[in-house]
Amino acid sequence: MQTPVLAYTIGDKRYLNITDRCTLRCTFCPKYCTLPRVHEFDLSLAQRPETDDVINALGNPADYREVVFCGFGEPTLRLGPLLEIATHIKLHRGRVRVNTDGLANLVHKRNVLPELVGKIDALSVSMNTQNETLYQQHCQPALAGSFQAMLDFLELAPDYIESVTATAIDGLEGVNIEACRELATQRKVAFRKRVLDIVG
Ligand code: SF4
Repeated sequence: MQTPVLAYTIGDKRYLNITDRCTLRCTFCPKYCTLPRVHEFDLSLAQRPETDDVINALGNPADYREVVFCGFGEPTLRLGPLLEIATHIKLHRGRVRVNTDGLANLVHKRNVLPELVGKIDALSVSMNTQNETLYQQHCQPALAGSFQAMLDFLELAPDYIESVTATAIDGLEGVNIEACRELATQRKVAFRKRVLDIVG
């Protein structure tokens, strides 16, 4: 087994790969469609990495515009290590963004957003679709109520986190980018259109 890629750089951002698990099974996910690969980085994980190993792989957070928790898994499933690593990054003058499915409150059965305060600067939340039917089709959630839970998370998040952006992928069958943008606007969060097969 090759050495796992726990941290990787694209442009001026450092990315952290702390889990390969998630409760969605997106039809467009490279983990299922092809290989768990971003650019030249193979993000396969044979086991969940230790917090210290991720911190050691990270380098100096201040050397990057942003440190982003983003792999082929949902970082908030490992909330404890995520917050420990984020604390380290903040102590070393880094900026922290978490790319998330927005299902942390559903998974953990409580509002976890207060725990993120002071540790996470920005959240990018994958809205993906403008309604539950399409969400079921494209994201295949394991947990009932995921679409609504994601919307509820988006609505709560700005009370705790400085920068919150919802994202959706242009080019997925049935997805209406403007309708997604409207859902984001209603929840007073920013919106960013992503392009299918481009990660970052
Ligand atoms: S949430 Fe991300 S990692 Fe999980 S299946 Fe969807 S695209 Fe893949």
